[in-house]
Amino acid sequence: MVKDNISKINERIAQACFKVGRDPRQITIVAVAKGRTADEIQEAATAGISDIGENKVQDALLKYRQLMSTAARHPSIRWHMVGHLQTNKVKDALRLFDLIHSVDSLHLAQEIDKQAYKIDKVQDILIEIKTSEEAAKFGLKPEETIGVIKELAQLKNINIAGLMTVAPLIDNPEKSRPYFKMLRQLKDKIYESGVMKEQLGILSMGMTDDFAVAIEEGATMVRLGRAIFEEQ
Ligand SMILES: *Cc1c(COP(=O)(O)O)cnc(C)c1O
Repeated sequence: MVKDNISKINERIAQACFKVGRDPRQITIVAVAKGRTADEIQEAATAGISDIGENKVQDALLKYRQLMSTAARHPSIRWHMVGHLQTNKVKDALRLFDLIHSVDSLHLAQEIDKQAYKIDKVQDILIEIKTSEEAAKFGLKPEETIGVIKELAQLKNINIAGLMTVAPLIDNPEKSRPYFKMLRQLKDKIYESGVMKEQLGILSMGMTDDFAVAIEEGATMVRLGRAIFEEQ
């Protein structure tokens, strides 16, 4: 089932890219495995998934250990933290995650920088943006983002690789479009403001119900749970 799901997703990604003239190779699927077992992750990895997302640090570490102890290892899996990260979990998070999508405050980013320095790591992060009032509890307000990034750009042990948002859960994916558009425009504004030397590369947006629309609006990472692990 997971294998079939992934080929259907790849088709839909190709269609969405074709519609707006993008290259499907620009899109990374992050399989969000919260509540799924290590075996399910293994199945996804076998079907070609190389990026796994979790929303809890301890769950991710546990499944990582389980996967590493099985015969078929996938050392090439990249781990993504997509859930809210508490400062007291940062130390553990840094041991595993290649990319932290959910950096939603200056304070959290400073803690990541501090702990990353101790283990000589430069941690890739995304800044989580609250593009709608009702959608998410977490995230920076769009209007405060440039100010925060200006401070973060000084820190040596984090690398701001892009932006992330969670759109509101709504019945019609078209209704998510304005939030995705807002995130892409914010990325451009950040570049124009001069606080970052280069354009941010990653836009993490789009989930099972709205990933095609997110891709049309410029997503480079889609975070998919149900579309991969559940019967469609
Ligand atoms: C669970 C989750 C997803 C995946 O959601 P689906 O609707 O199952 O695709 C994506 N992003 C975050 C932050 C999540 O918590």
